Amino acid sequence: MSKVGTVSRTKNIIDKHDFHIKKKYGQNFLIDQNILNKIVQIPSITSETLVVEIGPGLGSLTEHLLDKAKHVLAYEIDAELVQILKEVFSTDKLTVLNRDFLKCDIDSDIVELNITYDKVIVVANLPYYITTPIILKIIEESMLVKEMVLMTQQEVAQRLTSKPSTKDYNSLSIAIQYKTKAVIALKVPRTVFIPSPNVDSSIVKLSVIENIEQKPISEELFYEIVRASFAQRRKTLVNNLFNKYGIEKEVLINLLNDLNLDSRIRAENLSVSDFIRLSDILYKTI
Ligand code: SAM
Repeated sequence: MSKVGTVSRTKNIIDKHDFHIKKKYGQNFLIDQNILNKIVQIPSITSETLVVEIGPGLGSLTEHLLDKAKHVLAYEIDAELVQILKEVFSTDKLTVLNRDFLKCDIDSDIVELNITYDKVIVVANLPYYITTPIILKIIEESMLVKEMVLMTQQEVAQRLTSKPSTKDYNSLSIAIQYKTKAVIALKVPRTVFIPSPNVDSSIVKLSVIENIEQKPISEELFYEIVRASFAQRRKTLVNNLFNKYGIEKEVLINLLNDLNLDSRIRAENLSVSDFIRLSDILYKTI
């Protein structure tokens, strides 16, 4: 299929199928060929790679992914779009599942494809309203995904990649940076979508760290402590931990001293490594 004129391609498909854009599914379709060309250069896709696309929509990104990858496994919640995709693409390189990605078992769907691949990469222009749950689901549940290249709102992209002691740094930054190397790869203006969203976007590249050097004794406790520590961002770490676990403040201050951390420190000042050390010391205390 020719890749010239994505605007008219998208509009033609919409008209031909009398498709009505559904806001409830976060449908903002990419229509800029330049941006699409740039996006597909970002993931390390080879002709042996299995790409998982979440929300292929009308297939403008899918078309490029099919050119580069061995196979594309796509999850689309909107049955009407699934029908359209099946009509537009007649290739056995594409598997489209009419499923809510949040309810799928990604690794078993990949195994069911029964194909060989060099690696699995997720590429998606994500529906904004469920960006965070989708990213956390992949991070927590998939052993197979090695890389994610995701279009998110600029604000989310900043959180994912922000460093300690900055205003965007929060529990999501820590959860992501514990398991991946996160970088903003491309800024994307709102004008390249129809309909145009109210905010600009960014492409974030998350590369899963193969051998995490520093691991907490309990990942579950680590995530719980990170969430509890940011529960009230302006409060000190001691106050947030006291509220969550009821451990006496003096005991908490001594623990922080043992870690060479100031007793008035706030969650936003701790690095991922600090949180791991804190989690391990609390593991033995709680
Ligand atoms: N990839 C297309 C593009 O770039 O033009 C469409 C992107 S649009 C922002 C998001 C897509 O995700 C829509 O097609 C929408 O129907 C789909 N979607 C929304 N929620 C979903 C979910 N829970 N599971 C799978 N797909 C979903």
